[in-house]
Amino acid sequence: MQSIVVIGAGMGGLAAALRLAHQGFKVTVLDKQARPGGRSSVIEENGFRVDRGPTILVMKSAFDETYQALGLDINQRLDFVRLDPNYRVYFHDDTYVDLYADIDRMAQEVEKIEPGAARGLDRFLKASERKYALGMDFVDRNYDHITDLMNPAAGVKLLATRSYERLYDQVGSFFKSDKLQKAFSFHSMFLGLSPFDALAMYSLITYADLALGMWYPKGGIYSIIEDMLTIADDLGVTIRTNAPVQQIVIENGRAVGVRLESGEFIAADLVVSNADLPYTYRCLVPPQYRRDYPDSRLDQMQYSCSGYLLYLGVDKTYSHLQHQALYFSEDYRANLDAIFATKTLPDEPSFHLNVPTVTDPSLAPDGHSLLYLLAPMPNLTAPIDWQKTAPLVREQLLTQLERIVDPELRQHIVWEREYTPLDFQQDINAVYGTAFGSLAQGFFQSAYFRPHNKARDIEGLYFVGQGTYPGIGMPMVLISAKLLTERIVAEWL
Ligand SMILES: Cc1cc2nc3c(=O)[nH]c(=O)nc-3n(C[C@H](O)[C@H](O)[C@H](O)COP(=O)(O)OP(=O)(O)OC[C@H]3O[C@@H](n4cnc5c(N)ncnc54)[C@H](O)[C@@H]3O)c2cc1C
Repeated sequence: MQSIVVIGAGMGGLAAALRLAHQGFKVTVLDKQARPGGRSSVIEENGFRVDRGPTILVMKSAFDETYQALGLDINQRLDFVRLDPNYRVYFHDDTYVDLYADIDRMAQEVEKIEPGAARGLDRFLKASERKYALGMDFVDRNYDHITDLMNPAAGVKLLATRSYERLYDQVGSFFKSDKLQKAFSFHSMFLGLSPFDALAMYSLITYADLALGMWYPKGGIYSIIEDMLTIADDLGVTIRTNAPVQQIVIENGRAVGVRLESGEFIAADLVVSNADLPYTYRCLVPPQYRRDYPDSRLDQMQYSCSGYLLYLGVDKTYSHLQHQALYFSEDYRANLDAIFATKTLPDEPSFHLNVPTVTDPSLAPDGHSLLYLLAPMPNLTAPIDWQKTAPLVREQLLTQLERIVDPELRQHIVWEREYTPLDFQQDINAVYGTAFGSLAQGFFQSAYFRPHNKARDIEGLYFVGQGTYPGIGMPMVLISAKLLTERIVAEWL
């Protein structure tokens, strides 16, 4: 039986381990942290259980397919609830709009903000649906040669959707109101791109978010990781935590195993890295073997943004809150430019507010709520001292929460934790403390142009997760595990 070591127990690393074990490989997963999950980890303290990273589950078909490939049904094992509305979007002037999964209801909502916007919504969703259908053709495939990118028919159709325009500008052709332009353009931020720079192509994510449904697994996102760990056990996958890998050991141009920081050597026929890909090359591969990714190339790559997270346990429940919400600051452009262009601290951060106890009270003690706040921030290439800055951002977020949630919120906080760009760097080895994924997903870091899941310069070294294609986000890393498995099975079985 051929052996595989997977470095990293993120969602992509675990999915790859399960699929490869199911194919008959002997798999060992090593993670530096005490708990598996990586960016999709959890904090459990004082009766509160809060997902540390992802909270928005879209493209559920990628989750269903992962389990089907293992001969399992995810819906038999986990209890999914469909969220409706998908989001409540708050604006600076104390107004809000609810973006319902039901398109007719969403249309009524946008009409309240901009009379006549229902027609724009209909056109926007149809155009985004086309981009989604065409774009997915480039997502779910392995790349070897640039010709794999060639699909003249899809290319021509994509041109017809004006996918080459800037996302924010194109959204402006569907909605006149500044509020709706914000609400329908921000999604590219999750791929590490400002909507002012991102291609209009990326409205396909907005489509996936709004039209394909948003789901919540009871117990939170981490319940998926926990279930994957149960399956790993059933399949005989060995998972070792507190096992930081120091080096991928290469002999005669071939990966032969890994050396842990403890000095222990673990031999393997193949090595798969789920750790950030630029970090893997820079820190785990000896320089003499890095023909494809020397430091000079890694330095030139475009890195994604980071984020400041605040998790609050409060001794109250709030019937006026929705499960998912966003707050947009008045000057959207200034906020995004600070994060992506000038790399400075935003004056007034926009943020994502997740209140999972609205759907699942079991995540907090009786009569309590959990509030998760995520404010996108510049990554650590910005000269921001997070020791000094974190308390200021916390203060800004609490001030906004007093307007949205409860004027007396501070008196009700009974538990809190925060997570800064420094933590992403330290815990996950996230390059420049990037949050959602390391490499921003601009055109030249997507599909064929994104680092491939197989190292060209080192035999037997592979990649899975957000650093390779298709890219950032839970559904994408699950597809990445599928593509990797297809490749390894084709090459080694
Ligand atoms: C705050 C936040 C919010 C997000 N929101 C969403 C969302 O709502 N929806 C969505 O779909 N996605 C979201 N994402 C993105 C999503 O979580 C990630 O893209 C995805 O989870 C990345 O998974 P991965 O498999 O690439 O591995 P990662 O989660 O990046 O895990 C990599 C693992 O490698 C380990 N590792 C690193 N170096 C070593 C080493 N030397 N030795 C051993 N182990 C090592 C790390 O400890 C880590 O466990 C969010 C991310 C964050 C941080």
